[in-house]
Amino acid sequence: MHVPTTVPVLIVGGGPVGLTLSNLLSWYGVDHLLVEARPGTSRHPKARGVSARSMEIFRRCGLEDAVRGAALPASQVFFYRGRDLVDPDFVRSGVAHDASDGGGSTPSPGVICSQDVLEPVLLGRARELAADRIRFGTRLLSCTQDEEGVRAVLEERADGERHTVRAEWLVGCDGAASTVRAGAGIGMDGPTGLGHFPQRPLRGAARRGGGRPGERVVLPHSTRAGRFHGGGQRPPLDLPVPLRPRSPAWG
Ligand SMILES: Cc1cc2nc3c(=O)[nH]c(=O)nc-3n(C[C@H](O)[C@H](O)[C@H](O)COP(=O)(O)OP(=O)(O)OC[C@H]3O[C@@H](n4cnc5c(N)ncnc54)[C@H](O)[C@@H]3O)c2cc1C
Repeated sequence: MHVPTTVPVLIVGGGPVGLTLSNLLSWYGVDHLLVEARPGTSRHPKARGVSARSMEIFRRCGLEDAVRGAALPASQVFFYRGRDLVDPDFVRSGVAHDASDGGGSTPSPGVICSQDVLEPVLLGRARELAADRIRFGTRLLSCTQDEEGVRAVLEERADGERHTVRAEWLVGCDGAASTVRAGAGIGMDGPTGLGHFPQRPLRGAARRGGGRPGERVVLPHSTRAGRFHGGGQRPPLDLPVPLRPRSPAWG
């Protein structure tokens, strides 16, 4: 695929922020190039809550329906709060179903749409609007700024081929360990490691059970295994694993 030697805007990073920016720039008719180091979108759920403000931005560039369609149905999303995952005194709350149901201050209430589901939606539309400008498997190696703009060196993941691109603007959407931030000489201060987020994908043998459909709660079993109602169209699962937190990292 041809890599332009000059481009008005170079976006580094094809996560939710970079892909949303590509959609917005295409919407406004601004030529750009997006490079993403990974060969594909995230396999990990990571961010799940898409805020009302994000949905308003998606609404502006015609993406709201697609994102809402990919998200868990609001009628089947509940939040569980308890001392641990088998607390009998748990509290359960839902989210707004639509603008007239508790989300009245916005036409676009937030949704639960995890990053591994959201990114393909954003990427699909970005490619519809600017197919030859979205390059996965290409990473930024370095960038320098001069009076005319930015000079960026890119590298193809597949064969190591390098390209030099001049851009009027370079936008760093390359996450927490940003090469762009480092290239711009922007440091970080303050404490790090403020929290831990355990993620435990639940795959493998699971027995389908009864229960109310679409809940997102874990109920105690005598074995300390749990019943997980995953929402969406998925049936509830009886899980043959202990679900009580086993490490301080869960705190
Ligand atoms: C376990 C977990 C749970 C989370 N839960 C939530 C949540 O519920 N709600 C929420 O809002 N947020 C949540 N987050 C945070 C959320 O994932 C991030 O805020 C979000 O991913 C930031 O999006 P981004 O596009 O800025 O960066 P990223 O998603 O990190 O994307 C940056 C992209 O840049 C690419 N990149 C990096 N360097 C280069 C380079 N040199 N060249 C080219 N590409 C490069 C990376 O491959 C990556 O794809 C969670 C994060 C984790 C880890």
